[in-house]
Amino acid sequence: MELIDEIVANAAEITAWRRDLHMHPETAFEEHRTAQFVADKLESFGLEVNRGLARTGVVGTLRAGTGNRAIGLRADMDALDLHELNDFAHKSRHQGKMHGCGHDGHTAMLLGAAQYLAKAKPFDGIVHFIFQPAEENVAGGKVMVDEGLFEKFPCEAVYGMHNMPGIDVGKIVVRTGPMMASADMFFIKIRGTGAHGAYPHRGVDPIVIGSEIVMALQQIVSRNVDPLESAVVSVCQFNSGHTTNVIPEEAILTGTTRAFLPEVQDMIEARMQQIVTGIAAAHGATATLDYQRRYPPTINTADETELAARAAAAVVGRQNVLNNVAPSMGAEDFAWMLQARPGSYVWLGNGAGEGSCMVHNPRYDFNDQAIAVGASYWARLAELALPRG
Ligand SMILES: [Zn+2]
Ligand SMILES: [Zn+2]
Repeated sequence: MELIDEIVANAAEITAWRRDLHMHPETAFEEHRTAQFVADKLESFGLEVNRGLARTGVVGTLRAGTGNRAIGLRADMDALDLHELNDFAHKSRHQGKMHGCGHDGHTAMLLGAAQYLAKAKPFDGIVHFIFQPAEENVAGGKVMVDEGLFEKFPCEAVYGMHNMPGIDVGKIVVRTGPMMASADMFFIKIRGTGAHGAYPHRGVDPIVIGSEIVMALQQIVSRNVDPLESAVVSVCQFNSGHTTNVIPEEAILTGTTRAFLPEVQDMIEARMQQIVTGIAAAHGATATLDYQRRYPPTINTADETELAARAAAAVVGRQNVLNNVAPSMGAEDFAWMLQARPGSYVWLGNGAGEGSCMVHNPRYDFNDQAIAVGASYWARLAELALPRG
């Protein structure tokens, strides 16, 4: 491993920042203390600091040499609505909120890289350090893009990183193409005709129709998606009725779909529409589908991923850069930034084996052993993307 010495020397300080952030988790668009923390640190390193994009977003800009080429490095700052079950000293002090996805670590590592790069200036050009709010659920990254992130801070490419439990510390997963899936949501409302439970022939039963729709939706993935592609259709709620002897008027189904390709997303939506309205009509009911596109797939571009792999190899060695790990059916709002600019999103090993629980688990904690790895990766990436001379 070729960690950057100055970053290793600062690792205890960066760890202290990380734990401070962990103690004070803040959720979507309310990251006021976190944003202040980030802005104060960036200012103390001598960066230009811009605040207010997507309400609590912070962008720090660092220039070195005379070049005008620019890249963006992005970290997310938000926590989860989750009650932490850890009881170490740096556990959450905010009731019902927790840094259960490691964004405390992401923020600290990018600050650590900014601190080093501001001092050493080993690149020629402009690095924008993008600290975004509200990655979880409400796409703060999209809000930053919509509010002009890349017009105000032009970048030729943008890079992201997420910690990954189950991968050893000191390994980095790099992949061209889809890295994470789209996440769409659907709401189906079936209207039948209520009846006495003893006289079903006098009604139109939305529960039976809904059941048939649930089963038919399973065939989208098994019969309509190319077997060499990937997709998920999950019905996650089925609500209807209120007692044992009444056939209700209405049934509501909700759920999520996942895919890596926009054309698969389109096909899923179209097939769902046909199934929902077709099955309802076949039974004399009506049904509506509200299909909402939430997160696009996170797709890494080839050249920038090649650069990310070189930066990762410079830090952890080529043998620890993993390019054969399967993509995830989870979603990530960095996808919006990758729709706007080329770039690459990598996974940083957070540790495997005993005690390495998954993100969003109430016992999760970001692994501080990964801090110097992640911060060194960011610094090498800036160096390689914007070489001197
Ligand atoms: Zn998360
Ligand atoms: Zn996350």
